[in-house]
Amino acid sequence: MTRFNTQLVHGLPVNDNNTGAVNPPIYNSSTYTVESVNAMPRWDYARSGNPTRDFLEKQIAQLEHGTRGFAFASGLAAIHAVLSIFKPGDRIVVGKNIYGGTYSLFNEYFAERGLEFDSVDTADYKALDAAISGRDRGGRAASAVYFETLTNPLLQINNVNRISAIAHRYGALSIVDNTFVTPYLQQPLDLGADIVIHSATKYLAGHSEVNAGLVVVLDDEVGNGIYFAQNRFGGVLAPTECNDVRRGIQTLALRMECQQRNAQAVAEYLLAHPLVRAVHYPGVYGDRNHLLAENGLKGFGGVLSFEVVPGVDPSIVLDNLHVFHLAVSLGAVESLAELPCRMTHFELPREERLKVGITDELVRLSVGIEDVSDLIEDLGQGFDKAFEALGIDGVSGQVLDRLTTEVAA
Ligand SMILES: *Cc1c(COP(=O)(O)O)cnc(C)c1O
Repeated sequence: MTRFNTQLVHGLPVNDNNTGAVNPPIYNSSTYTVESVNAMPRWDYARSGNPTRDFLEKQIAQLEHGTRGFAFASGLAAIHAVLSIFKPGDRIVVGKNIYGGTYSLFNEYFAERGLEFDSVDTADYKALDAAISGRDRGGRAASAVYFETLTNPLLQINNVNRISAIAHRYGALSIVDNTFVTPYLQQPLDLGADIVIHSATKYLAGHSEVNAGLVVVLDDEVGNGIYFAQNRFGGVLAPTECNDVRRGIQTLALRMECQQRNAQAVAEYLLAHPLVRAVHYPGVYGDRNHLLAENGLKGFGGVLSFEVVPGVDPSIVLDNLHVFHLAVSLGAVESLAELPCRMTHFELPREERLKVGITDELVRLSVGIEDVSDLIEDLGQGFDKAFEALGIDGVSGQVLDRLTTEVAA
């Protein structure tokens, strides 16, 4: 058994061609010739199965330590397929802070088709136990708990081990969206999760080129339910894009190492900046190694967020960035910046948004693999524009003092 980084590069044998090619072929075929009318072919029609997709599905199953993988045309197509294994009347306990599109899919689609959703703070284990057990609901236990390993955009850590243990106490499945963390930093199935989901659009593909979703399971029956959804809804990932994700995965370790090193440096820079009120990145608080060990993580990834001090317009900073692209999405080689309240989390009603801490001053960064000095200089000149808008010279110590005092007050 090879180690993880070696597995990323060549975890699976490439043996279905007679050319010696080091990469698996892309099978652009929607149908397959069969030998006879009575044959039971492994491949018959591409929605049901395609060898290029099969390669990627085996690849992610191996990396996530699962038994079976599934590739979908987007992260949301994957989440839709996973949720479809539940039946009307089933109750799902959901982490408070989840991806906006997932929130909308749950509450505006599945809730209208008979699934019940209970939102809970998944770091409050008492509340979580009560919600999953259903002891306030005549003892009707939940069918599953659904959460993200690192929440978006506030980077709160969800402890997969503890949350899954509570779910299993009541026979509920533990479903983890591992998009922000990737198997490089954590393999949730090893920590008790039952189903792992990825928006492979982000870190796994890693180059802002494709929309893709992946699911990995341990249990056969769960796997059969997800295969049914994949084959019947048909939201499958096309062969060329399967290959894009396969290739992206080969450099995951290199990219993620650089992204999180840069993110740590950017977070430390922001923490010291007078126009920044708060930084949300677990790497800058407390005992880093303890926090990692306690949560079974190898790192905190490349996404972080921060809040500018009141009175500063965050859009001035964002509109003046030149190295960071002003764009939604995350996890790619290039650095991206965005304003969650306007660009990614507008699906949440403002009141809900504020309740979970996504203020109007919150900026999210997805840190890429550039020279980190260029990223920091870029942010610095963006902040200088915000200083100018306040009628202040950015280097004026007096003003820095005033702003800092105001924030402290
Ligand atoms: C982007 C994202 C999704 C949705 O994935 P798509 O590929 O855009 O459909 C789901 N969960 C998280 C955490 C995401 O960041």
